[in-house]
Amino acid sequence: MKITAITPYLMQAGAPGETAWSAAGMSSAGSRHWCFVKVETDTGVHGIGEGSGWPKVVATAIADLATLLIGQDARDIDRLWHRMFVAQMGHGRTGVVGAGAIGAIDMALWDLNAKALGVPLHRLLGGRFRDRVRAYVHASSVETARDAVAQGFTAVKAGNPRDAQAKVAALRTALGPGIDIAVDLHGPPWLTAPDAIRLARALEPHDLLFLEEPVAPEDLDGLRRVRAATGLPLAAGERLSLLWGFRTLIGEGLVDIVQPDTGRVGGLTQLRKIAALAEAHFIQVAPHSGTLGPVAEFAAIHFLASIPNALIHERFLTDWPGRQAILTHSLETVDGHMLVPDRPGLGTDLLLDEIARHPPGTNIAADSAKHRGSYEAGTADEGLYTQPRRARAAFFTPE
Ligand SMILES: [Mg+2]
Repeated sequence: MKITAITPYLMQAGAPGETAWSAAGMSSAGSRHWCFVKVETDTGVHGIGEGSGWPKVVATAIADLATLLIGQDARDIDRLWHRMFVAQMGHGRTGVVGAGAIGAIDMALWDLNAKALGVPLHRLLGGRFRDRVRAYVHASSVETARDAVAQGFTAVKAGNPRDAQAKVAALRTALGPGIDIAVDLHGPPWLTAPDAIRLARALEPHDLLFLEEPVAPEDLDGLRRVRAATGLPLAAGERLSLLWGFRTLIGEGLVDIVQPDTGRVGGLTQLRKIAALAEAHFIQVAPHSGTLGPVAEFAAIHFLASIPNALIHERFLTDWPGRQAILTHSLETVDGHMLVPDRPGLGTDLLLDEIARHPPGTNIAADSAKHRGSYEAGTADEGLYTQPRRARAAFFTPE
């Protein structure tokens, strides 16, 4: 089964209805892009994948990587993965962008191999632990959280460290102990380890499902300090790529939950290995989906169905209607769970004419006044990673 063509499809997507951080003005609406790929073979079977990371750059990388794979046997998934990985060494470490490009093609290879065998993707991944995957949704307000619970969801996630204490207290009061609440601090560059510890301890009485990215992803020493200072379950990893990117988090037990991004971690080939490494350390897996388009979400559901240590799936309660329009089939949600598709491969395909109706634009979050509003005045102009410009007492005790 030889590969005959690999083609990226880049599009601009509309913004989701509400995210955990949208109330803080941090949504990147207007710059949200999805990059899909189609891998074709001489047998007529094709597969599709998705690469996030920086979709516009990923699309270019996919076109380069394609030259390495034309004529190769599409059944040798892991070998082709390494062929693409080694080829990127000349560019230095390419992070989530390189991993997003490899991962998109890798995802398509898994899809087409499952389709060639006439089985759903999770069968190739080892079979199912479950036929539906529990999901949580973003809720930046009590009203949204109540909507989610009314629709059957049993877990929500809030964001924004500025008002996390008040927000979580309101959510817990409104929802009661039967609903899980997670908090995403988004690895805020200006939240230092002492402040993250202060917040974590304040949130402990609310028994969070997890506290996500309490410090910046580069601040491993800060994460070690947070880990030692709080009993809250910690989650991280959405900005990391490849198996090796997770070695320290998992090996040192710095988190209870790893959150590889299905579209930019390096594909299903890497996700399976990360999940196995996590399993050895009694760590659970809850993939990051904040940037994901619908194809990577299909991959996430097959992946979560097939691993023992799947915790939960992340999604938005409402999203741009185009999410459904560009695919032949969409995922189904029932009682707060995602149904695991049973059709061959991923269980969906691209509608290329629909994708073409949304040409790409600028694919980076604009430095808008709205975006700046989530930081202290001036921080966007001066070393955002090192300048905590706020008044500390007022941050923890808003007037
Ligand atoms: Mg996050």
